[in-house]
Amino acid sequence: MKALVKAKAEPGLWLQDVPEPGTGVNDVLIKVHKTGICGTDLHIWNWDAWAQKTIRVPMVVGHEFVGEVVEVGANVTDFHPGEIVSAEGHVVCGRCRNCLAGRRHLCKDTSGIGVNRTGAFAEYISVPMSNVWHHRPGVDEDVASIFDPFGNAVHTALAFDVLGEDVLITGAGPIGIMAVAIVKHAGARHVVITDVNEYRLDLAKKMGADVALNVANGASLAEVQKSLDMREGFDVGLEMSGNADAFRSMVDNMCHGGKIAMLGIPSTPMAIDWNKVIFNMLTLHGIYGREMYETWYKMTVMLESGLDIKPVITHRFGADEFEKGFAVMKSGQCGKVVLDWSVFDRK
Ligand code: NAD
Ligand code: ZN
Repeated sequence: MKALVKAKAEPGLWLQDVPEPGTGVNDVLIKVHKTGICGTDLHIWNWDAWAQKTIRVPMVVGHEFVGEVVEVGANVTDFHPGEIVSAEGHVVCGRCRNCLAGRRHLCKDTSGIGVNRTGAFAEYISVPMSNVWHHRPGVDEDVASIFDPFGNAVHTALAFDVLGEDVLITGAGPIGIMAVAIVKHAGARHVVITDVNEYRLDLAKKMGADVALNVANGASLAEVQKSLDMREGFDVGLEMSGNADAFRSMVDNMCHGGKIAMLGIPSTPMAIDWNKVIFNMLTLHGIYGREMYETWYKMTVMLESGLDIKPVITHRFGADEFEKGFAVMKSGQCGKVVLDWSVFDRK
């Protein structure tokens, strides 16, 4: 089968013929229909310091996907050929304290699809049944292909109650943009998002942001608060940039008792004025991955109750044109980029 492989310890990805994966007794073999390109895949392409210490080559990469069940192992009774599914990208150990208590998102020993184990940028992927998610019949497969980052957005956006609250989102990457639509759907009052990229801020505006602020030219969140007649600061902050300046501006603009959920991954340690956290009694809450499977349930039912995240998908390519997809990702002039693997279907 065709697969996108990190074949060499150097920048790039290579489309190669590799053996189809086997199906263990507890596994579900899935024919991949569509995949989303994640920032993680770009790190792997670029072969940055994180990728060099994390990825063992050769590795089939990619973890955002939707596909169709084609075969199941002997122990698998809940999945059947033809069903449309995605998979949770974190395979948990099942044995640590948190796993045993049912808090699988807090597993101390996760293994990442397309990072630590064979990935989804391929015609077929085999996944443990405990990681497979059934989509509702009729789901839009483009949207289904990005449930993984949609789940990061949902997990972060719903970490704190947002009904009637004023929400600040820093970082209008695909996840920040989806978070705009989610917190609006969940009843937030004012939603303000910041970035330094006009293309993405425009998209965030289309997804329902009340203010999409370009902070590149020193624009101030204090002014935005005034223009919205806000008096005491944002109630909830969603940090989705990994940028230290963005995080500091968030800390500066929270209300007393404000709550911050942090998803963005800083590339280096970042300093803040802890006095602001202490005297304003802020709550900081780290977010990793998705809750298994409450986040997946929420995604599924919010789509059914009218949440529309489709506009975040701005580019689509055949998987044979993956280089174009990665080039658009690198440019930053995009939301989500989806690759279609049906181009390799044998007639
Ligand atoms: P992304 O890199 O596409 O988006 C980050 C955005 O932040 C970009 O649009 C960038 O222009 C913007 N930005 C840069 N400087 C800024 C500033 N000073 N103020 C405001 N915005 C600024 O990433 P994404 O795919 O949308 O993911 C969002 C973040 O979440 C990333 O840091 C990513 O690494 C992280 N992430 C974390 C998890 C997790 O489990 N914790 C999972 C997925 C992604
Ligand atoms: Zn565990």
